[in-house]
Amino acid sequence: MGIYRAYKFRLYPNEEQRILIHKTFGCSRFVYNYYLNYQKENGVQKSFDLCKDLKELENNYEYLKEVDSCALRCSIFDLEDGFNNFFAKRSGYPRFKSKFARQSYRTSLIRSTYKGKEYSNIEVDLLTKFIKLPKLGKIKIRGYRDKERIEGKIVNATISRDATNKYYVSVLVEEELLVEKVTPTSIVGIDLGIKDLVVTSDGIKYGNDKVLMKYEKRLKRLQRKLSRQVKGSKNYLKTKEKIARIHAKIKNYRKHYLNDIANEIVDEHDIIVTEDLKVKDMFKDKKKAFNKSLSDACVSTLRSLIEWKCKIKGKYYYKINTYYPSSQICSHCGYKNSKLKDLSIREYDCPKCGVNNDRDINASLNILFEGLKLHYNLVSLV
Ligand SMILES: [Zn+2]
Repeated sequence: MGIYRAYKFRLYPNEEQRILIHKTFGCSRFVYNYYLNYQKENGVQKSFDLCKDLKELENNYEYLKEVDSCALRCSIFDLEDGFNNFFAKRSGYPRFKSKFARQSYRTSLIRSTYKGKEYSNIEVDLLTKFIKLPKLGKIKIRGYRDKERIEGKIVNATISRDATNKYYVSVLVEEELLVEKVTPTSIVGIDLGIKDLVVTSDGIKYGNDKVLMKYEKRLKRLQRKLSRQVKGSKNYLKTKEKIARIHAKIKNYRKHYLNDIANEIVDEHDIIVTEDLKVKDMFKDKKKAFNKSLSDACVSTLRSLIEWKCKIKGKYYYKINTYYPSSQICSHCGYKNSKLKDLSIREYDCPKCGVNNDRDINASLNILFEGLKLHYNLVSLV
């Protein structure tokens, strides 16, 4: 798992390198402004296409070939970020870059292998205090006296000059996140299902949320309405827009709802076990086909949320085999009752030991036991 960290060094370029850095500032700005203008006139394009176009541009403006081509592509990506932020209403429309603002350019890491040896275009040596940058070669740096090397993978480097004529390089590094595993004191089995979204072996049930159900109903109604309307008509488009809005609401609401459930489960337990469900098999009933797509999404999102939270909190997550008949086995005595394949049976008395089992809680208990076996590396006897 990676986290990002930036290392900022003072940079000491020689005269020749300084000239090239300034050229790169200028060329990056030129490319940024050129494609901003281009997209203002022709509409927003894909970065991929602009990068192809950049090759043409380099033929028309030969001086672009003198500088780091990675930096020029980064300008295009920065511009794309600018447009994305604008469309997501996080910022205003991208503006032209001025020669008088802060001067900087970014270049990204490229690795290559030549004759069995690996090369990268950005390298930092903290012992000799040098950085290698594309086109510029080795430049003296200062900073991080107490470190011998940079741990992790270099992602990119940003070269800048401040108002007092000092040069800096900020190196972005992706580091492995090391989390110490907890000593487990609590385990929970989780049955992810249709009727209730989550049933834990503690007997806690998280239903499909009422607000979500309300949205679902409204969505269903609108989709029926849409199917009756004339394709492309004014009303058709209106309905379509309403549907899109509800989809967005559901997505947002679901994200928060599932996140809360995952947090609660992972905060309270150290070992968490779920089934590795192929959700599709759970819905053979056509009437439920509509709810299916929503539940599918919920179940798989929830599973990956739990997995991720366990990872960053040093807890254990296990997925048990899909073919394990978790709902047919009595968690009390181990008796297998194949009549229980019928999903409509919600609770039953075990024919062997007589214990009254709630279908889902019983299943989550069996999932818990299977998880315990996995955790302690025991072989399943079932
Ligand atoms: Zn039993």
